[in-house]
Amino acid sequence: MSKVYVQSGQLVVPDCVTVPFIEGDGVGAEITPVCQKIVNEAVKIAYDGKRSIEWMEVLAGEKAFKQVGEWLPESTLAAFRDYLIGIKGPLTTPVGGGITSLNVALRQTLDLYVCLRPVRWFKGVVSPLKEPQNVDMYIFRENTEDIYAGIEWEQGTPEAKKFLNFLQNEMGVTKVRFPETSAFGVKPVSVEGSKRLVRAAISFALQHKLPSVTLVHKGNIMKFTEGGFKRWGYEVAETEFAESTFTMNQYDKLKHDLGEESAKAAIAEAVNTGKLIVKDCIADAFLQNTLLMPDDYSVIATLNLNGDYISDQLAAMVGGIGIAPGANINYATKHAIFEATHGTAPNIAGKNVVNPCSLLLSSVMMLEYIGWDEAAVLITNALEKAFENGEATNDLARFMPNGTSLATDEFGQRIVELL
Ligand code: NAD
Repeated sequence: MSKVYVQSGQLVVPDCVTVPFIEGDGVGAEITPVCQKIVNEAVKIAYDGKRSIEWMEVLAGEKAFKQVGEWLPESTLAAFRDYLIGIKGPLTTPVGGGITSLNVALRQTLDLYVCLRPVRWFKGVVSPLKEPQNVDMYIFRENTEDIYAGIEWEQGTPEAKKFLNFLQNEMGVTKVRFPETSAFGVKPVSVEGSKRLVRAAISFALQHKLPSVTLVHKGNIMKFTEGGFKRWGYEVAETEFAESTFTMNQYDKLKHDLGEESAKAAIAEAVNTGKLIVKDCIADAFLQNTLLMPDDYSVIATLNLNGDYISDQLAAMVGGIGIAPGANINYATKHAIFEATHGTAPNIAGKNVVNPCSLLLSSVMMLEYIGWDEAAVLITNALEKAFENGEATNDLARFMPNGTSLATDEFGQRIVELL
């Protein structure tokens, strides 16, 4: 068993690395072995057999409940904590009391504050856009705060009544339209939570030499929470990355103080000297803009709920959830869990038709995260070739003019051949 560990702030990765994995419920049993086979082969080819992955199964979801009577055993959390990285298939959300979502529990326990979703188009995959090749974005979604914190009270309960009393009597709130029948939710957005997310997005953009980071928010309406996110985001850029960024906040100040020509000259110089441009966009306009001019955007930093909507829209623009990868990361501790972003797809489970690409591309993200880029590139290239040939699982192949529908295991075998 060889663990990835952190030394002087950097990941140290042994040549034979142990990766804990959760197989996943429903289609998990089909996609997980296919992905592991492809990854093993890619690593073998890329490093002449000198590197390898030892997969270590840990339990979660229905499989865990059946085997040990718990949905998320402590030993699983301990493995992800110890081994730093891990990968998971989709999990059924247990209905009824107890844990509401296993995914949320994993994110909270390890404080995985970034949900990273890269979005790119593969030639051959049918997209609703005219120019899907212009879509190349990385969404950094804040993963621990916002209205997702789960602080809410049901309509008609004593708690809702108590909260209403507090609002009306102690805070002087008079704006609740139907006070007696309202449910309430609380939206915490902090300086630390916002700054660490934006810091991660800017660092990633600089490391990968990407042109811009866009802070997406609804600060025009929610001035202190979403507006705070934008303000603190600009602050991070201007104080912690002053040498390497130019912000639209600075542009606006220059325009105000010295006029538009000076501001334009400053931004032109920033672009010419390779500075990262940090800008912001109101969430609703942003969703429209991604369809009309996707090439204006590269790295997106946003709050939890906005990030949820944005992730699904962008995924749909390049082929849907069957092909959208994701990772939950804490860039301070370096803990990272890579995951299939779709659910357990019970309607197709056991039929050997599920698309393994979401988990496979998440495996590619994992390889990149540990610095095994050569193996990652082999898999990405093989996928590009397959899609260009019209070879895909049915969810994608049925829309391709030259499409051939392959079963999940056949598709996996084809990717291995194309590596
Ligand atoms: P789903 O993503 O499982 O399925 C939605 C639709 O997309 C279905 O028609 C399904 O067949 C299709 N689909 C999903 N993934 C596919 C793939 N890889 N290839 C081809 N088609 C695919 O969402 P749902 O039906 O709303 O949820 C089912 C279960 O999954 C629920 O228990 C839910 O809580 C859980 N879920 C888990 C996660 C997760 O673990 N990350 C995410 C979403 C839903």
